[in-house]
Amino acid sequence: MEILSTDILVVGSGLAGMVSALEAEKAGLHILITGKFTIGSGTNTSLSNGAFSVANSLFSKEEHLKETFNSGKGLNHPGMVKTMIERGPDAMETLKGYGVSLVENRMGYFVERREGSASLPGVLLANPLKERVQNSSVRLLPGLVIFDLIVEEGEMRGAFGFFKDGRPCLIQSKAVILAAGGAGAIYRRNDNQRSALGDGYALALRAGLSLLDIEFIQFYPFVMAEPRLHTFILYPPYPKETRLLDEKGEDLLERLNFGEDLNRAIITRRDSLSFTLFEASRKGDIYFDLRRVPEETWEHYPLNFLRRSKFPFRDRPFLVAPAVHFCMGGVESDENGRTALPGLFAAGEAVWGVHGANRLGGNALTECAVFGILAGQSASEYARGREPNLFSEPSRRRWERKAEGYLRKSRGAFDPPIQILKDLKALSWRHAGPVREESLLKEGIEELTSIERRIEKVYPSTLKDLFRKRDLENAALILKAILRGSLARQESRGSFFRQDFPDQNDREWLRHTCCRFEKGELQITHRPVLET
Ligand SMILES: Cc1cc2nc3c(=O)[nH]c(=O)nc-3n(C[C@H](O)[C@H](O)[C@H](O)COP(=O)(O)OP(=O)(O)OC[C@H]3O[C@@H](n4cnc5c(N)ncnc54)[C@H](O)[C@@H]3O)c2cc1C
Repeated sequence: MEILSTDILVVGSGLAGMVSALEAEKAGLHILITGKFTIGSGTNTSLSNGAFSVANSLFSKEEHLKETFNSGKGLNHPGMVKTMIERGPDAMETLKGYGVSLVENRMGYFVERREGSASLPGVLLANPLKERVQNSSVRLLPGLVIFDLIVEEGEMRGAFGFFKDGRPCLIQSKAVILAAGGAGAIYRRNDNQRSALGDGYALALRAGLSLLDIEFIQFYPFVMAEPRLHTFILYPPYPKETRLLDEKGEDLLERLNFGEDLNRAIITRRDSLSFTLFEASRKGDIYFDLRRVPEETWEHYPLNFLRRSKFPFRDRPFLVAPAVHFCMGGVESDENGRTALPGLFAAGEAVWGVHGANRLGGNALTECAVFGILAGQSASEYARGREPNLFSEPSRRRWERKAEGYLRKSRGAFDPPIQILKDLKALSWRHAGPVREESLLKEGIEELTSIERRIEKVYPSTLKDLFRKRDLENAALILKAILRGSLARQESRGSFFRQDFPDQNDREWLRHTCCRFEKGELQITHRPVLET
């Protein structure tokens, strides 16, 4: 087994991970950064639309604060919101200093794109950061998938994982920054990277930390749903000639009372549009129709992006559906990126706090930048001057045995992990989708138990199965937390809609859902909100 030592290990190389690694490096410490793929790639950051909500000359801090709290419906962490808003402008300067080209707009900043370029804004955001990390002293460990965080005597000691070629690796580290992103891909319909299966949440739960408000999932009304095409988001703004049609070719926006302006409906009524389209899609297919869009509009972003596909987007309506976009809940941490576990820090979509019951557009990237910087600073303060964490001999042997356990081949037959993942994603969509209710949630929990039994039987007959089994265990754990948290919350708030409890109930439910993993079982409790 390969054994590495470092001051700080960063798990995840999206915006939050790269920024925290660069910040920690400034303190002259030794930093390792991992990602499931090459650094910066295969991240939600690289898929993003590059919009940052940050106060500027056109958007005051007061407006930003008000809109963030309005979206969060009383469940935001007030201190984290204030920190993000106060520090947002400086974080933009830091990103510019790393070579990210940002332009001001009405709600903050967006990643500058050259006219006619069909590159995604997220790629233009991730690439300069990746270059900066590659040219720094930060050591890259691409393709090292972390399976476990290591806690000894109540402190963070490092992590254990496997490289994609199957080599096990034990990392002794004074501090760890968890920046492993969200869990959108546990759903059949989502616009996230396929690898966004909730690893960060599962790592934290197994290390004894709490996940808060994990049932709050943001849905986006339209992603590509053509069977043979990869699911991806259709980025706004949509040309005014865009139409949304039902199976008979009739205009759906008007019929569902969302007016004529799709862009306005997206901005002002995104969630109700998602709920309504989810219901409508149960009855029949929904189509986007771009046939009336004039020729010259196809030269510009976002339609020039669609033009790269062989699919005849210009010539015929194509299938769309609502999909999971973002996870509001996550690991409990404070205004400085510190978790309750000494030596563990966290940033980005993996973390709960800023968004409450729903996310204001553009706040996710701002959160990654601000708390990435803060987690990097807090981790370096913690690690500086501490003795290296060297595992004792018995401890190393324990992890060697654990590695052998993960690699143990199956003697009996088991379902292909790919099929199990497909079934799990279908279950999430059916039972924990945009519209939830008691009987569906209970059925979902029961069905998940049988999926868990199928996962237990999987033992790797190939290297791919080694990683797929861990993916499945993580995804099942997080789905269970979402289902259980949703069942307990008997109201509707922000992105969360219970058909059987359609109203927001502040008297009983202005509370955070707190999920812990104790003795192999998920425990759900509730706690009062912090003063806004
Ligand atoms: C299509 C789309 C468009 C979006 N547009 C915007 C936007 O314009 N503005 C906005 O504010 N937000 C937007 N968002 C949300 C935003 O992009 C994400 O919340 C943000 O990029 C998350 O960054 P992150 O660094 O936390 O995680 P990610 O960028 O997802 O990176 C996670 C990293 O963790 C690694 N990882 C995961 N598990 C492990 C493991 N076990 N071991 C090792 N590494 C691991 C991954 O490989 C990856 O490197 C968008 C999201 C999507 C999907």
